[in-house]
Amino acid sequence: MPHYLDHNATSPPHPDVVDAVCAAMRDDFANASSIHAPGRGAARHLEDARAELAGWTRTRAADWILTGGATESIHAAILGVRRARPGTVVSSAGEHSATLGILGQIEAEGGSVVRVGLDPQGRWSADEVLEEIGRIEGSGGRVSLVSLLWASNETGAVSDVAAVAHALRGRRIPLHLDAVQCFGRIRVDLEQVPAALVSLSAHKFGGPKGIGALHLRPGTPWRPWMHGGSQERGRRGGTPNVPGAAGLAAAIRAARREDLAGQWERLRESFEARVLAVLPDTVIHARGAQRLPNTSFLSFPGIDGECLLVRLDNLGFAVSAGSACTSGRTEPSHVLRAMGVRDDLAHASVRVSIGRGTHGDDLDALVAALEREIPGLRLGRTQRQAP
Ligand code: PLP
Repeated sequence: MPHYLDHNATSPPHPDVVDAVCAAMRDDFANASSIHAPGRGAARHLEDARAELAGWTRTRAADWILTGGATESIHAAILGVRRARPGTVVSSAGEHSATLGILGQIEAEGGSVVRVGLDPQGRWSADEVLEEIGRIEGSGGRVSLVSLLWASNETGAVSDVAAVAHALRGRRIPLHLDAVQCFGRIRVDLEQVPAALVSLSAHKFGGPKGIGALHLRPGTPWRPWMHGGSQERGRRGGTPNVPGAAGLAAAIRAARREDLAGQWERLRESFEARVLAVLPDTVIHARGAQRLPNTSFLSFPGIDGECLLVRLDNLGFAVSAGSACTSGRTEPSHVLRAMGVRDDLAHASVRVSIGRGTHGDDLDALVAALEREIPGLRLGRTQRQAP
């Protein structure tokens, strides 16, 4: 078993989730839309998942739409509001690629999108969002919706969602939040943060892949995005994913019962302190911001992050690179770029994200591996660059 330190990409399913999914597949295989007894039995898993979501977030169960993950939830939120309320979409430069992708498509089709920047700690600013809205409305335009990332999947930086949610509620502009990385890590209380729409994905907190949800507050201008029947009260067509819903409900119960975020934060803080002790020029991004308790995004000046990732992989560590290889070229993270981080430093980054099953031993071993490997990677680079 490698040292799995990539929980922001996905977390391993909780044992309760595996049991719940298997049991639902075996015992409740009926179509949840069927009115016969087996169908009603299957439908109970959907209602159970909605009830768990509602209890966790202080919302109403009926306002949750189950989706095939967060990417679908984000598409449903943005496209669904735009259909009911055309206008400019206001977002940020630090969004996940699911949001970046659909906003790029909207622009390609002639729509208007405005993106606020990030501060050096990786946060968008509530004031800047509100100023942009004022500017758009002041020039006779209309804002369709505001779509923002609550916590960054890369840096873990948490932005001030409550300020925007309260300001926009008063102005009747729908706010959509991508809260995918928050569940099980920081409190998601949708009474305190009264956003119109909120997206999540179960596999980030021990649930199965391919199931997520969209919270749709009553009164939000929105039209269904996926058609096909009366499923999800006419808000999302397609045969419901009953085993996924059973797994989602089990994951929420386990996350609430175990409540491990404090433990992860202690592990992360000790890991970062030890890395800085052995490699003092390490840059830890967003360290001055409120961060997710499990995330550490580090740059090691003078190395290539991809080389480090491969080296760590060979040594049995699963971490993530801070740059993505697109069309044969390695591009630094758009998030680090938006924070104003130099390209060479952005190229020198890896993300370590911890979660259920991470032990102090995993991080001890990683610190030792970094201390051993980084000087060699720096040397290799200098030698390659020498004439
Ligand atoms: N938003 C954020 C912040 C994410 O981290 C992810 C997953 O990486 C998504 C959206 C998309 O989730 P999914 O791939 O489960 O649809």
